[in-house]
Amino acid sequence: MRRILIVGAGQSGLQLALTLRAHDYDVTLMSAKTPDEIRGGWVTSTQCMFADSLSIERKHGLNLWDDVAPAAGGQGVSMPGPDGERALNWLGKWEAGPAQSIDQRVKMSTWLELLEDRGGNVIIHGVTTADLNSLARMYDLVIVAAGKGELVQLFDRDPSRSPFSKPQRALSVSYVHGTESRPETPGAVDVWVNLVPGIGEHISIPGYTLSGPCQILYVSGIPGGPLDVFSDRPAADEQFRRHLELFKQYLPWEYERYRNAEITDSKGVLTGGYAPVVRHPVGELPSGGLVLGMADVVVANDPVSGQGANNAAKCAESYLASILEHGDKPFDREWMQTTFDTYWEYAQHVTRLTNTMLVPPPEHIQKILGVAQTNQKVANRFANGFNNPPDMADWFFEPDKAEAYLTSVA
Ligand SMILES: Cc1cc2nc3c(=O)[nH]c(=O)nc-3n(C[C@H](O)[C@H](O)[C@H](O)COP(=O)(O)OP(=O)(O)OC[C@H]3O[C@@H](n4cnc5c(N)ncnc54)[C@H](O)[C@@H]3O)c2cc1C
Repeated sequence: MRRILIVGAGQSGLQLALTLRAHDYDVTLMSAKTPDEIRGGWVTSTQCMFADSLSIERKHGLNLWDDVAPAAGGQGVSMPGPDGERALNWLGKWEAGPAQSIDQRVKMSTWLELLEDRGGNVIIHGVTTADLNSLARMYDLVIVAAGKGELVQLFDRDPSRSPFSKPQRALSVSYVHGTESRPETPGAVDVWVNLVPGIGEHISIPGYTLSGPCQILYVSGIPGGPLDVFSDRPAADEQFRRHLELFKQYLPWEYERYRNAEITDSKGVLTGGYAPVVRHPVGELPSGGLVLGMADVVVANDPVSGQGANNAAKCAESYLASILEHGDKPFDREWMQTTFDTYWEYAQHVTRLTNTMLVPPPEHIQKILGVAQTNQKVANRFANGFNNPPDMADWFFEPDKAEAYLTSVA
């Protein structure tokens, strides 16, 4: 039986560990935290996952919250105009199925327990490079799925695929209970993206947390701008109070929805920011042993496009297929590079979409967003691009392709 070590109990590490166990691999997963510590810790993400990623979880029987979590049917877009009224306000429907966001404190703690139940070896230990150096020779393959933790230093940045060297957004998140639904779509459950030109974004995501269904409020500010006011890491209530103040000023329709809401728990907030980066996938240990990076370790996009957990699910699924196909052959450098290249065939589109969202939209994208106001096909295709980013390459990024598409659906 092949022995595989995975470092990191996140979306990618746990999903791969659980799916390898289902194929009888001898899997060891090292997690910096126990399930109780994960459950009792801070929120880590807004983790909205779209239909194709959820279908991977369903295929492997890892969809444990379908009966309780809100199912978001579409992705709305609003943008304030100069008079404070909404210049854009439309809803694209996800044709492949609804999206879902399970607080990673809930999901990862449960999956970690499930892995032990299913015969995985779980070791609670914050892993260092020195640990890996001595551990690597005991395994056929070592995969580093440690997110944006310090182990990323084992993997060199790929400057040709990493146009930014600094964080492009200052992030702040509040999990709340008690949000009103939108007056224009009463009772509907949707993700809503608010674009505030030159200032940043607010995305509103129906989620499921420790205390049940909730609303997750994501604010992404251009550094130094008016939404970048959380660097002092305020306590949860104060953070939400500041979010409300910002909404009152920039997004009054969102303020009306949130004004009577309350924070879910004292750890239901986060602040931060990081530079988007693509890294080379093979890390070399001082001993000469090789390790393979997975998901955020190798492709970390800004969260503005809500893709990281989706990428993690797709990366784990792609790596699973590469491991299974490889049978008993050695997991050498060439296999590691090919395994990553196969994933990058998909992930390159996600990076392109995300990086496009971080800069002011060119004229043709402004036109697409405007046409979607009156053309449901365009609204739906835009929303579906977040479930299936490779589709965006066919119509979204380049002015001539966008024009041809808009003409075809006019
Ligand atoms: C504010 C914010 C909002 C987001 N919103 C979304 C969204 O809506 N949709 C979406 O798809 N994505 C979103 N993301 C991104 C998404 O959360 C991540 O991309 C995804 O969780 C990455 O999965 P992963 O498995 O690579 O790593 P992670 O989920 O980060 O897991 C890594 C794990 O490794 C552990 N670890 C780290 N170092 C060590 C070590 N040395 N030893 C042992 N364990 C270690 C960590 O504790 C963690 O448990 C968001 C991110 C942020 C910050």
